[in-house]
Amino acid sequence: MDYLSQNIMYIGGVGTKRAALLESELKIRTVEDLLCHFPYKYIDRSRFYFLNEIADVNTFYQIKGKILRFEKKGEGNKSRLTAIFTDGQQTVELVWFKGAKYVIDKIKTNTEYVLFGQATTFNGKYSFAHPELELPTALPPAEQLGLQPYYNTSEKMKTNFLNSKALQKIIFSIIQDLPHTTISETLSDALLEKYRLLGRKDALINIHFPINEQLKHQALRRFKFEELFYMQLLIGTFVGWRNNHINSFRFNPQKNFYTNKFFKQYLPFTLTNEQLKVLKEIKNDLIFGESLENNSTQMAQMNRLLQGDVGSGKTIVALIIMLLAVDNGFQAALMAPTEILAIQHFNSITALLGDLGVKAALLTGSTKTKERAVIHSGLMDGEINILIGTHALIEDTVKFKNAGMIIIDEQHRFGVQQRAQLWKKNEFAAPHVLVMTATPIPRTLAMTVYGDLKVSSIRELPAGRIPIITQHCFESKRPQVNQLIYNEILKGRQAYIVYPLIEESEKVDWKALQVGYEYICKTFTQFKISMVHGKMKPAEKEEQMQKFAAGETQIMVATTVIEVGVNVPNASVMIIEDADRFGLSQLHQLRGRVGRGSEQSYCILMTKYELAKTTRERMATMVRTNDGFEIAEADMRLRGPGDIEGTQQSGLPFALQLTSLNDANDQRILDEANKVVKEILQGDPTLSNVENQVFKNNLKKYKNDDIDWGKIS
Ligand code: ADP
Ligand code: MG
Repeated sequence: MDYLSQNIMYIGGVGTKRAALLESELKIRTVEDLLCHFPYKYIDRSRFYFLNEIADVNTFYQIKGKILRFEKKGEGNKSRLTAIFTDGQQTVELVWFKGAKYVIDKIKTNTEYVLFGQATTFNGKYSFAHPELELPTALPPAEQLGLQPYYNTSEKMKTNFLNSKALQKIIFSIIQDLPHTTISETLSDALLEKYRLLGRKDALINIHFPINEQLKHQALRRFKFEELFYMQLLIGTFVGWRNNHINSFRFNPQKNFYTNKFFKQYLPFTLTNEQLKVLKEIKNDLIFGESLENNSTQMAQMNRLLQGDVGSGKTIVALIIMLLAVDNGFQAALMAPTEILAIQHFNSITALLGDLGVKAALLTGSTKTKERAVIHSGLMDGEINILIGTHALIEDTVKFKNAGMIIIDEQHRFGVQQRAQLWKKNEFAAPHVLVMTATPIPRTLAMTVYGDLKVSSIRELPAGRIPIITQHCFESKRPQVNQLIYNEILKGRQAYIVYPLIEESEKVDWKALQVGYEYICKTFTQFKISMVHGKMKPAEKEEQMQKFAAGETQIMVATTVIEVGVNVPNASVMIIEDADRFGLSQLHQLRGRVGRGSEQSYCILMTKYELAKTTRERMATMVRTNDGFEIAEADMRLRGPGDIEGTQQSGLPFALQLTSLNDANDQRILDEANKVVKEILQGDPTLSNVENQVFKNNLKKYKNDDIDWGKIS
């Protein structure tokens, strides 16, 4: 058996107990698994500093010197051990809050040590708390120490003394053996050469113990390339396979009874050219898709992404596509991310359909058992043509007579495998799939989550829309802001006032919402006020939304539950309280709730006076532009690498260990990986050629990971 696939248990310093911990906590079983547990940061130990060079707290320094004397200070639980340490020129205080006996026993005065630790300040002077002290002879020469790796561990590992340092020691001993070990390459020589990537062995050594920054970067780049390459390859081979194996239904352009009638008699406005363009692209997929196995009624499944900024009119496109399905004898489903949005879609779609004769039903998490049974049977016998709902509609218990089209609205992380689940909705052939989303989605995310989709974009808003005026205001402008709300409502318009409620559990936020609501009620006694937030019962939320939509209330006080998709065209004012606490894309989504009619609309960003620089830039971006694409770019830039939302990874075929989808440099690596994967698959779609065997073999590893690709492909 080769070294890398050996059980970690047999490595010196591990043993059964630690091996069990590594497996249960980090899923690490083999030497290779451990080597692929990459450091999350590095600290430079390649040089020694002098005390007069200390310039930053929370920075690590490595200093050669001696302890002059120890001293015990304080009483009781304030007691601590201190020491005066000198580099021969200056002195600094060291402090230990526990373990004093151990330190005094082990560390000698007037003996040269290498101190390593994080500088802090105490009484206006630098000091070091709990520094590491090692005899110079116990350490390799500084220039060989290089960058010191730090590893993620769990609480349980730490309490069992398997901390970052312990992992570092184990990995170091494995790395010592690597030069004499054969390690199979996961990328081809051609790729390594073309993209000037480190070989796998060198990269493994240097990702753990780089002796300088440059090698660290080279190692990181290689492994980022590797994970992105395999991600794109997985998506690419999957698409190739899907196009050849997944049958769907061919639509007949002659079958257009409802669609035609809808266009002629029910459509309340003229479609924009862009709406017509995307409709044509989608229809093309449905009518002219490639045949499989010479079967004229079945063909390749449509998998398309419909992109369009907030307010660009995606819903009507979705409805027309669903009518096409109905005309062809199929049922269609529209899935929304929230209950409010599902209800709104249901209401506006039933209103648009009028007496056309197409039956729509609504299914959400709070649909009552009895009603649910009626819907289930209506779907089974084909009485229901269009099903609108939340995630509830993709549950296995929901069965259709003949589902032919599934549309997914505003689900930013609905990746390849989630979509593949939908195919089961029809036992004869897979339904077509259309995913709709408003920009901004960063391009990286689009490539990794939606990489398998063809893209249609709506690039203009319906005519007559006046750009929303956005202003950034401080509390001192409150009277003017209230005046604006007042004036607009007198003109017959309506206003939203949104409060941040990022965490449901944040008591302060609930308080702010409550206080805000009371203030609004007191300030606008002559108007009626609605409120919605996440803790309300769905029925209560719906009632409040309904009242606002019907114009019975003039002001809607809300949390971000109204963020996506809500459509009340008469609303012309959006006040966002504590706007600094929202991200750019969220602000843009919120602003998109107004400016939906033909009136001038306003968006006011209220913040405190003192703001961080990037926050001020966020506000300035909102004031400057209404363009979703521009905002998406600014968002990427201002967020910077590493700042990822908790759910960033969902929707990806597998978790990325190193790559940050927000990072511009990583984006470049993704572009390279994407390009080369396209080239490879163009020449060899099933990876059957000898030179591509290495990719095919390694791809299996990723396939086995989290998803049951076996079932899908
Ligand atoms: P989004 O793309 O954000 O989902 P919606 O589908 O909710 O946008 O549409 C926004 C508003 O624009 C709705 O009130 C809708 O009725 C209206 N709308 C859509 N298309 C047109 C059009 N071609 N002309 C005029 N209004 C339109
Ligand atoms: Mg929408």
